[in-house]
Amino acid sequence: MVKVNEMFSSIQGEGIYMGIPMFFIRLTGCNLRCKWCDTTYAFYEGKDMEISELVDAAEESGLKWVCITGGEPLIQDDVYSLIYRLMEEKEVLIETNGSISIEEVPTEDSVHVALDIKTPSSGMHKAMKFENLDYLGTGDFVKFVIMDLADYDYARKVLKENDVKVETVFQPAWGTDIRWLIEKVIEDGLNVRVLPQLHKMIWGEKRGV
Ligand code: SF4
Repeated sequence: MVKVNEMFSSIQGEGIYMGIPMFFIRLTGCNLRCKWCDTTYAFYEGKDMEISELVDAAEESGLKWVCITGGEPLIQDDVYSLIYRLMEEKEVLIETNGSISIEEVPTEDSVHVALDIKTPSSGMHKAMKFENLDYLGTGDFVKFVIMDLADYDYARKVLKENDVKVETVFQPAWGTDIRWLIEKVIEDGLNVRVLPQLHKMIWGEKRGV
């Protein structure tokens, strides 16, 4: 049983799988409180659902990919049962906030992790578990949301001080200038992708898309 905030079909709007149609399962609850959080509605609202109901819903969506997001999905113990069930038939993307260990997340080819590393503007950067970087592999990626120069410098420092073997995404905080970020990345010769939030470009702040 997991507590579910919402489910919907849309395209992935962030990260290296941007644009892929996915069935989203947003689980309730988060252990962090980022200053710029855009899913505060997921902190408490939701209903308890059986794993089999979610697997059926994912199947009915007809989509190959399922994104398990939040909130923070890994704070619910039964999320692992959900992942194990889904990964047999689907490509599973788990969006996690970087403060919870991902050691127990299965490493099958069909399971992909989008690992946030929170920057100072979130107010939550001290909660990160950097040992999570050691558990990432092919098909996983790291994402930094960059709001200002302090965030950018912090992200650069993290990349310099850690052996990040997977793709890295710099995502401008919604409402900030992506061109500035692109110019900085080029100027500094960083091997990262600068990507906007596609779903917000299309639908703005609308929920459930
Ligand atoms: S980790 Fe995600 S859901 Fe939790 S407070 Fe931060 S942005 Fe919001």
